Amino acid sequence: MTAADPVRRAEIEAGLSETRARIENACAAAGRKDLPTLIVVTKTHPPADIDHLRALGVRDIGENRDNEAAAKLAHVQNLDELTVHFIGQLQTNKAASVARYADVVHSVDRPRLVQTLVAATERLGRTLDVLIQVDLSGSPGRGGVDPQQAGELAALVVGAETLRLRGVMAVAPLDEDPDAAFARLAAVADGIRRVSPEATWISAGMSGDLEAAVRHGATHLRVGTAILGSRAHRG
Ligand SMILES: *Cc1c(COP(=O)(O)O)cnc(C)c1O
Repeated sequence: MTAADPVRRAEIEAGLSETRARIENACAAAGRKDLPTLIVVTKTHPPADIDHLRALGVRDIGENRDNEAAAKLAHVQNLDELTVHFIGQLQTNKAASVARYADVVHSVDRPRLVQTLVAATERLGRTLDVLIQVDLSGSPGRGGVDPQQAGELAALVVGAETLRLRGVMAVAPLDEDPDAAFARLAAVADGIRRVSPEATWISAGMSGDLEAAVRHGATHLRVGTAILGSRAHRG
């Protein structure tokens, strides 16, 4: 594998332009003038893919596992040009590691994790952008706070000097119409924004349901498969 494999770059470029076209069409259909930010989810894909993405103009990437991300990002060129979004379920004992390389943590879903991120960021002398992950499935344990408790958790983040509350994040349940799920997320986002006007982000929508997310006000889309394919390209 060479760092600038032209075949792979062309593949990624095609996936990117298809996805950007889908987003533009969805925005036009929804009467939206503001394009959401596209976060390309690079999990399971090698560092060279991230180099290609950067060369193709991508500035936001997403990773969902600390072990993989910490090891991989060490091999990415010009990492400081990228905004790194941590989007996966976050164990408390991994929070200090994630706080080192992430710019945004999308998956804050319990008070204990807030406390751990506060301790880690204070030690590192840095601040982190944070989203409250909301559980839309009704079966907590798979990530996300109960929508009823999202406001309380958001208040905890607002009270932390080294964390900046930016908004909410969710994954649509597989067994439900994504429009219905993202409508509930939009309502939770409204409630939080009323208390914290700067918390304007809604991170929602993946390869399969980005159009529904656009319809319900997503400001950030997290797309992997549609751009990079379904697994690590060549080891
Ligand atoms: C993997 C992942 C995505 C991207 O999913 P695709 O279907 O590959 O686009 C988005 N959000 C989270 C939390 C993920 O883990």
